[in-house]
Parts: sequence; C-alpha cells; structure tokens
Amino acid sequence: MRHCEGGKRYDTAAVITVGCRLNQAESDSLRGRLIRAGIAVSPYRLNGRLLDLSTVSRIYINTCAVTRQAERSSLAEIRRACRLQPKPWVVVLGCFAEKAPERLKRIAGVNEVWTNLKKQRLIAGQIPTPVRSRALLKVQDGCDRHCGYCLVSYLRGKPVSLPAPQVVEQFQSLVCAGFQEIVLTGLNLGRYEHNGMDLAGLLNALLKKPGDFRIRLSSLEPDLFTERLLEMIADSKVCAHFHIPLQSGDDRILALMGRRYTVKKYDHLISQILMSRPDVCIGADVIVGFPGEDDESFKRTMIYLSSSTLSYFHVFPYSLRLGTPAAQFGDPIPQGEKTERVGILRQLSQKKRLEFARRFVGDVRQVIVEPNLKALTDNYLRLSCPDLRGKEYQPGRMAEMKIELAGDKLIGSCQRANFMEEICL
Ligand code: SF4
Repeated sequence: MRHCEGGKRYDTAAVITVGCRLNQAESDSLRGRLIRAGIAVSPYRLNGRLLDLSTVSRIYINTCAVTRQAERSSLAEIRRACRLQPKPWVVVLGCFAEKAPERLKRIAGVNEVWTNLKKQRLIAGQIPTPVRSRALLKVQDGCDRHCGYCLVSYLRGKPVSLPAPQVVEQFQSLVCAGFQEIVLTGLNLGRYEHNGMDLAGLLNALLKKPGDFRIRLSSLEPDLFTERLLEMIADSKVCAHFHIPLQSGDDRILALMGRRYTVKKYDHLISQILMSRPDVCIGADVIVGFPGEDDESFKRTMIYLSSSTLSYFHVFPYSLRLGTPAAQFGDPIPQGEKTERVGILRQLSQKKRLEFARRFVGDVRQVIVEPNLKALTDNYLRLSCPDLRGKEYQPGRMAEMKIELAGDKLIGSCQRANFMEEICL
C-alpha cells in the first residue's frame, strides 16, 4: 500500500533513533502509526550491525541534543541517510531538530525538519510497536525544573502526562501483544499527574491489571519519591531496579546545578528503598566537570560513590549548552581533567557493578529473555545464556534462571524444563 503524507507517496520507511528511552518510546509510537497505515517499516540495526536502507523510501531520524556528542551522533545518522542511493525522503525530528531547525534544513538531502510539537501531534494516542524485547511506554513528557545543565527541559516544554485511561489501554495492548516487561518512561516520570492521579496512583492501577508482566520504571528524580510511591515499588511485579540521578556527591555543586536535594537526603532515599527491596539495583547519573567542581568537590563525589549502596553509575562529562542557566558560568574545567574524572568514576562503577552481581551468584531470578543469547533479571543483571544456543527462542518471554559467574561474566541457566519449552518456539 502506498501512503501519502505532505504530498509525497511512500510505502517503506525506517525510523532511526538517537538518545534516551523517551526518544526510543516515541520512535516506537511513530513506528506503530506507520505500520497501521500499511507502511512496511524496516529495522535499521540488527545485533549492533547497521542494515542496508537503500530500498527504503522514507527515513525518519529522531535526534537528540542532550550533549554535543549526542548532536554529533544525530548528524552522523542524518548524513548517512542523505548519502543513500536511491535517495530516500529524509525527515529529521527530535530535540536536535527543535534546537537547530535552520541548520538541519541546510543539509543537502534533508527534506523535512519537524518541531517537537509536530512529533507529539503525530504520535499522540498511537500504540507503540516496540523493536526490543521489552516495551517502552511513554506516560509523561516535559519538565519545568530547568536544572542548570539541562537543555532538554527547554526543548520539550512544560510537563504533560498521558491520561491514565490511555496509559491503561496502551499497557494492556502491549501485554496482549506478548510483552512481559513494560518500561514506563517520561522526561520527568515522577511528575506524572493526570486528574489528580500521580505516578503511585498510576502504578497502582496498572498493577491491578491481569496478566503475567512486570513493570520497570525509568529514571526518577530523587525528590519526587512520595511515601505512597515507596509503598507501591515494594510490589514484586515492579522490577527491583531504579535509576535515580545523583549528578554530584557535593552539596555545593548540587546547589549550583539547581538540584533540589542534598547528598544526605539522596542517601536516605536509597536506604529506604533498600529496606523494602534488599535485592534492589540502584543506579545513578553523575556529571563531572560542572563549572565550580574543584578537586575537593570531585573527591567528595568519589568518596560518596565508593561508600554508597549504589550498584552502578553512568558518568558524563559536563557539556555546556547555550540557553541553559549554567551557560553563564562558562566551561572552565579543562577537557583533559573531565576525561580523567570520567575515567576514575567509570572504573569505580565497574567495580560496584561486579560487587553487586556477585551477591546474586547461585540465586534463581526472574528474567526476560533477549536476543543474542542474553537475558535481563528484574534487578538489572544482564546474563549470557549458552543454554539457548542452537534453539529458536522467543525474546521478550519471562523465565527463571540460575545465576552463575564465569570470570567477570554472568551466566544464566534455565531452571525448569517447562521454562525452556515456553521460551523456545
Ligand atoms: S529534572 Fe532537571 S535534568 Fe531532569 S529533565 Fe528536568 S531540568 Fe532536565
């Protein structure tokens, strides 16, 4: 079937995504919209390999602008699409398109540049078509906090939430389609609010739905955990994994960043979560090289992270973004210094990850089976599953696996024969 949009006819498309889970969730909704319109949507990456897109007549590139590196990656995808022969119709959308539309329109081969508003209008109410074994469900967008370093809150506008009945409908469609792990996402997920229902209320409504599923929450701001949310996340159908941005282990830097908590409050929160879910994996984002982060501040961050019960952290070098409150401070920390700090913390994170993983060796845990002989536990341990070699199995299915350690690698072995039967075709 040929489809017509903006006066151009097409019947095959690919959706390329750069950036966060929210962008991935939106790409899934766009994919859903295209497929329901009868368009054949090609994957563009398989097992980490880029696929040949030369037969695709329209390419959507959902870009990111969170850092300069994200912009570079977005540009690389746009240029790759524009070089294809025969030439596809190239549509650029996402945060980079919102930030620099004129610059992107000037790239030879780019046919359309969408605002974030246009993207939201086109995907509103669309049931996502996930390309991974776990389904992302976007329930919230926007943020009005404007932390010092964050450009995205300006590009995505004020907080908006998907009405709860629509969330429930999309959630149930995904469960019926066979997805057993649904990841709730938002730009500031803790700000979910619809007709007086907050995130805890939404979670409560979803957990009451029938079906064999588990729910994972994507990144949550530390100051938005309410008592009720802490109660809800104790439910065993909620994955024992939370990603809670810390950004710095130094209160002075947190204040400069405009963050709304202290290290002590953050630490109290993770102790509370650990009390109700002792097997929980808690991860954090950390930015190094924020203006004003001297050796002492960095040392405080390092000491806090070493002693904390966090299981891993994603470390990013500070990237100055014009238009953000922190841009007024300039970017005084030399790149070499930032790179060194990133290296130190990434190494520490690796050590923490391994320490955390070792605690579960010998345990049997629930997993979602993934492609490439992998599986993911509820508490975010990625296992290699040699048992599945040579078998045709269904990624996305739930199973129980025993965790073993081989060197630094975690191995999962299927515990019960019936699980093996269920996940194999
Ligand atoms: S809470 Fe801060 S970092 Fe997160 S989206 Fe909002 S402004 Fe950006």
